[in-house]
Amino acid sequence: MKIKNLIVGAWPSWIILAQRLAEKGEEVLIVEKRNHIWWNCYDYYDENGILIHKYWPHIFHTDLEDVWKYVNRFSEFSNFQHKVLWLVDGNLVPVPFNLNSIYQSFSPELAEKLEETLLKYYEYNSKVSITELREKASKENNKELSFLADYIFEKIFKNYTIKQWGITAEEINTDVLKRVPVVISRDNRYFPHNKFQWMPEKWYTKMFEKMLDNKNIKVLLNTDYKDIISEIEYEKLYFTWPIDEYFDFKYGKLEYRKTLYKLEEYNKQSFQENIVINYPNDYDYTRITEFKKFYPNSPTFDIEKTVICKEIPWIWEIEAYPVETKENLEILEKYKKDAEKLKNVFFLWRLANYKYFDMDKTIKNVLDFKI
Ligand code: UDP
Repeated sequence: MKIKNLIVGAWPSWIILAQRLAEKGEEVLIVEKRNHIWWNCYDYYDENGILIHKYWPHIFHTDLEDVWKYVNRFSEFSNFQHKVLWLVDGNLVPVPFNLNSIYQSFSPELAEKLEETLLKYYEYNSKVSITELREKASKENNKELSFLADYIFEKIFKNYTIKQWGITAEEINTDVLKRVPVVISRDNRYFPHNKFQWMPEKWYTKMFEKMLDNKNIKVLLNTDYKDIISEIEYEKLYFTWPIDEYFDFKYGKLEYRKTLYKLEEYNKQSFQENIVINYPNDYDYTRITEFKKFYPNSPTFDIEKTVICKEIPWIWEIEAYPVETKENLEILEKYKKDAEKLKNVFFLWRLANYKYFDMDKTIKNVLDFKI
């Protein structure tokens, strides 16, 4: 069989690439091992009509105008401002930690003092990483600021990071902790900085199916590329699999954070009081998502059934998050050098780039890819 573009893995990036190539008039064959498209982002309606994100919850948020414009070609979206709560010492408080969290965690007198202190050092609406806040507290030698920085670090970041990554918050790339800053305002949203925060009006899989709806695109599901690659003559190969796997791990295996996404169904209308609750200190899971709460206007919202997802790190092999330590990045450089020598094989996305990308950065990555 002869084909111009062979894509291994119906991952989000490659679906978008296929859409762009097909629109240009080029033929594309996508070979996918699983029985569905779009890999870990796959969503579907269960028998009760509840929309489930099969592997883990995906929330679309971005500031990138071109990405936002692109996805709008394939789906309608409904406004969705994501909010998360933390369970700390039996108390549910808003994440990211903000002025509301302070008032819910301490006595009014202490909370007032802490708010005043923060506003002495930072402007209202600033976002500060916990690393920066701790450094500031130690530099300024301020008792209140140190108390607050230590409290947030100890109660929220320290154990969660060890639970999730297996390394300490001091060892991890500081960019990871910056994702959840301390917010000096009363904004309870999880992504306070992002201009566009939406969920697809129908479901993500539908949006990706629409991208694939072109006569130039063929998709083979339930097919391992290794079983058919010798029969295919291609001009270009687009590879989704981890870059180290492509090179048979010759420089060593790149490490990923592995997580079990455990779905549980309950015969009740509601399981928890918020769509996502984080558990920084207790239990073996880091967070619980209750899917139906993404769509409060859905006709199934009030039924006596609900499905949750528990995220339990280190159990199962969904290789989702690259662990960007110095050692791993050194191994990555070696693979990247070898990859540059290949004329007709291309790597994209998280596993190929070994980068902790959000969905919008993934899309940007492929929109910027020259075809
Ligand atoms: N984090 C934490 N406590 C929390 C939430 C996040 O310590 O309650 C830290 C943790 O190290 C995590 C990082 O902040 O890996 C980024 O969190 P985010 O929610 O962005 O992770 P993701 O949604 O990508 O799994």
